[in-house]
Amino acid sequence: MIDNATLLIAIAFSSAALMIALLISWLNAREDNYLMSWAAGMAFVVVALAVLGLRDGRYDTALQIGAFSPLLSGMALIHLGSFQFATASQRRTPTLLLWLAAMFSTNLTFVLGWSGPATALLNIWCAVFIALSGRYFWQARRESPLQMIVSVVLFGLTSLSFLACAIALVVEGNLVLSAPPNNWAERFNSIMAIIGLTGLGALGLTLNQSRVTRRHRDEAQTDAMTGLLNRRALFDRFSLGELPEQTAVLMFDIDHFKQINDQQGHGAGDAVIQHFGNIMQRGVRKNDVIARIGGEEFCAVLPKMSIEEARAIAERIREDFDQHPARLLAESFPATVSAGVAIAMAGETFSVVLNRADTALYKAKRQGRNRVAGSLARSVA
Ligand code: GH3
Ligand code: MG
Ligand code: MG
Repeated sequence: MIDNATLLIAIAFSSAALMIALLISWLNAREDNYLMSWAAGMAFVVVALAVLGLRDGRYDTALQIGAFSPLLSGMALIHLGSFQFATASQRRTPTLLLWLAAMFSTNLTFVLGWSGPATALLNIWCAVFIALSGRYFWQARRESPLQMIVSVVLFGLTSLSFLACAIALVVEGNLVLSAPPNNWAERFNSIMAIIGLTGLGALGLTLNQSRVTRRHRDEAQTDAMTGLLNRRALFDRFSLGELPEQTAVLMFDIDHFKQINDQQGHGAGDAVIQHFGNIMQRGVRKNDVIARIGGEEFCAVLPKMSIEEARAIAERIREDFDQHPARLLAESFPATVSAGVAIAMAGETFSVVLNRADTALYKAKRQGRNRVAGSLARSVA
């Protein structure tokens, strides 16, 4: 079997390597502060192990406080990073309070000379920090279920291995230890620390990468001005195959928008566009798809609609926009919108239905604007 000192050196090297990997990831995305918290946590763990490595047979108060204060700080930072990663919250107070409680209770017990109970306490605090980290991942597991549940298992086993060390010390029942504990639980803990640290480090980095990829994909699909889908995202969603029958496509185009730009300025024009995006959002159901597909042109795709229902929704949005003008710096900018509505029939693709909605929209424009026109069925038109 490998002796415990060798295992500690292995943990120190894997922690140092992990710290560097986390630090490099953080340099590439500084807003992801959990990477920095984890890297700092690893750095403290490395310091703790380096101090432990210098002990040459001693297990006195100076060594205990010198090694275990950085260990508890490292655990607290790993806890903070996991909290930041899983909850996206910036709150540091809960971690700070836990860290203070852990440092105070453990170091005081060491200073009093009760190194047995103090070492057990140290292990219990490590178990708590790691178990809580696992709990945050469990609560956020929907994001990437497989990776996050494997992380939870690793957090759980690592936490258990610290708890086992505490239990072994309690069972041995020594008030004062003359040497660091060396039993089955310590070896289980060292092996679990290596597996847990490297496993969680690798999973943390892949989870971070999936998050970066998802963020880029969302940005590529979102219209920055309104937060709605953009044209590309809309066509990606519907360009393949036929639309299900009874799917409604609504096209909207703001009336005389050039005049708004020319007479009130582009800032006013942008405010009107943003405002109409909000009006559309509040005018449709949760599962409807809405997109800004051009300058002041918007499209909504609503599943399972009759032409009457779809026209009523378009009419409601038109009226809402007519009655609630956009506001910018206490000025208001009244505007109107025209809409065209078409319902998918058997065998029609998205672009065919969209074209019919567009034709209806131009009919609404010709008929005087600020109105909704429906598309006739293909067989009739
Ligand atoms: P109509 O009632 O026939 O639709 O008249 P219109 O003036 O709205 O005509 P058109 O659709 O041709 O005008 C669109 C204008 O929208 C032209 C372009 O300068 C402006 N535009 C396009 N994108 C933006 C944008 O992001 N912000 C602003 N402020 N204006 C934009
Ligand atoms: Mg237009
Ligand atoms: Mg227009």
